[in-house]
Amino acid sequence: MKKVIIVGGGIGGCVSAIKLKHHGYDVTLIEKNSSLGGKINQVKKDGFTFDMGPTIVMMPHMYDEVFTYVGKNPDDYYTKTQLNPIYNVYFSKEDKVEVNTDLVHLTRFLESMGEQEASGYFRYLNDIYERYVVAKEHFLEKTFNHPRDVFNFKTLWNGLKLKTFDTAYHSVSKFVKSEKLRKLLSFQTLYIGISPYVGPSIYSIIPMVETLYGIWFFKGGMYGYIQGLERLMKEMGIKIMLNTQVDEIFISNKQAKGVVVGEDILCADLVINNTDFPYAMKHLIKNEKHRPSYTNKKLEKMDYSSSAFMMYLGLNKKLDHLNVHNLYLSPDFEGNIKDIFNATLPPTPSMYFYVPSKLDPSLAPEGHESLYVLVPIPSLKGFKQSWNEELIQTYRREILDRIASEGIIENLESHIVSETILTPKDWEEKVHAHYGATFGLAPTLKQSNNFRPQPKFKGLDHFYHTGSSIHPGAGIPIVMMSAQLCVNEVLKYDPNTEK
Ligand SMILES: Cc1cc2nc3c(=O)[nH]c(=O)nc-3n(C[C@H](O)[C@H](O)[C@H](O)COP(=O)(O)OP(=O)(O)OC[C@H]3O[C@@H](n4cnc5c(N)ncnc54)[C@H](O)[C@@H]3O)c2cc1C
Repeated sequence: MKKVIIVGGGIGGCVSAIKLKHHGYDVTLIEKNSSLGGKINQVKKDGFTFDMGPTIVMMPHMYDEVFTYVGKNPDDYYTKTQLNPIYNVYFSKEDKVEVNTDLVHLTRFLESMGEQEASGYFRYLNDIYERYVVAKEHFLEKTFNHPRDVFNFKTLWNGLKLKTFDTAYHSVSKFVKSEKLRKLLSFQTLYIGISPYVGPSIYSIIPMVETLYGIWFFKGGMYGYIQGLERLMKEMGIKIMLNTQVDEIFISNKQAKGVVVGEDILCADLVINNTDFPYAMKHLIKNEKHRPSYTNKKLEKMDYSSSAFMMYLGLNKKLDHLNVHNLYLSPDFEGNIKDIFNATLPPTPSMYFYVPSKLDPSLAPEGHESLYVLVPIPSLKGFKQSWNEELIQTYRREILDRIASEGIIENLESHIVSETILTPKDWEEKVHAHYGATFGLAPTLKQSNNFRPQPKFKGLDHFYHTGSSIHPGAGIPIVMMSAQLCVNEVLKYDPNTEK
């Protein structure tokens, strides 16, 4: 049985492990932290439980597919419920939109903005759905190992159909006139850490996915899914080494032959990297001659996604007026997006509030609430300030003042009984996100499809990748696609390595 070592227990690593084990490989997964999940993790403190990173479950069929792939029933491993309304969006305290994906509700809401707007929205939905089908078949579910994989008539023709040179905001603006609706259909590019004013128009796919496939909630929060995956991995006999940091990929004769952990070399027939690709290049392949396309200089020049300032607050009161997911879009939304991508802390930022204890009371003591506050901010690349205690406290103060002045949560500060803060520096240290960029390499045109690192590494045999910085990109369902592509490549290029 051929041996595979997977470095990193993020979602890409876990899904690859399960699928390769199913194909008969002997799989060992090595994770530096004390739990699996990578960015999908938990912060537990003072009786409160918070999801550390991702919270919004989109494309639930992708989550289920990992279990059905190996002949299991997902319902035996985790519990999911569909949300509706999916979230509240606050433009100010008085101006709140409850976004509901039920067609009757949705139509009523759109018509309240005018029938022209409703009609424009449905045209947007049709247009983006058609582009989504093209993107899925010709770009997302395909790898690009050779120039001919992209420079052929069929792919170029389909690329044109994607109208990808437009930006997300501009592309939705062609369909709807209301500024509010334009924002409601474009802010979601922040889910993958890019600006709607600059990011490729194909990312206006995200609000379509929310509407057509719904937003779901897992019992126990997002980490509830990882607990289900971990149980499956153990049942399948995947070896999991926690609290073990890989120091280097062991390379000989232009082949990955294993990994170096401290003084030990652990040998394998194949190595799959699930750590953030730029981190892996810089720290796990120390000799640049093995990675001429990704020298340290090149890695510095690449574009990185945004990061997140996180506050995990235990409150001694219930937040009845909030939904599970809530977004506050600042009046200066465009300005604070520009700040983020100009490496400046936005003074009047937009924010996201997540209150999972509303649906799962086990996440907070009785009568209390777990509140997760995410503020999109710049990564560490080009950021001139240092995330020391002084800056943390100053920014915390600004955020709390902003929440108070906007009246989103009354008297918030006096109800905080537990508090944890994470900054880009923590994202860099905890999960080795290069520059603390929480969504990895930015999916700009220059860094998408054939221009993005691919699952099969060029130049070193028996070495593969999966994760946010790999094609097709960030976000849990998309990383799951990268894991599937990675498995396909292993099966394609190493057919004899199967049992
Ligand atoms: C704040 C935040 C909010 C998000 N919100 C959403 C959301 O709502 N919905 C959504 O779909 N996505 C969301 N995302 C994105 C999503 O979390 C990521 O795209 C996805 O989880 C990344 O998975 P990955 O496979 O790339 O691995 P990662 O999660 O990056 O994991 C990599 C793993 O490798 C380990 N590692 C690193 N170096 C080493 C080493 N040397 N040796 C051993 N192990 C090592 C790390 O500890 C880590 O466990 C969010 C992300 C963040 C940070």
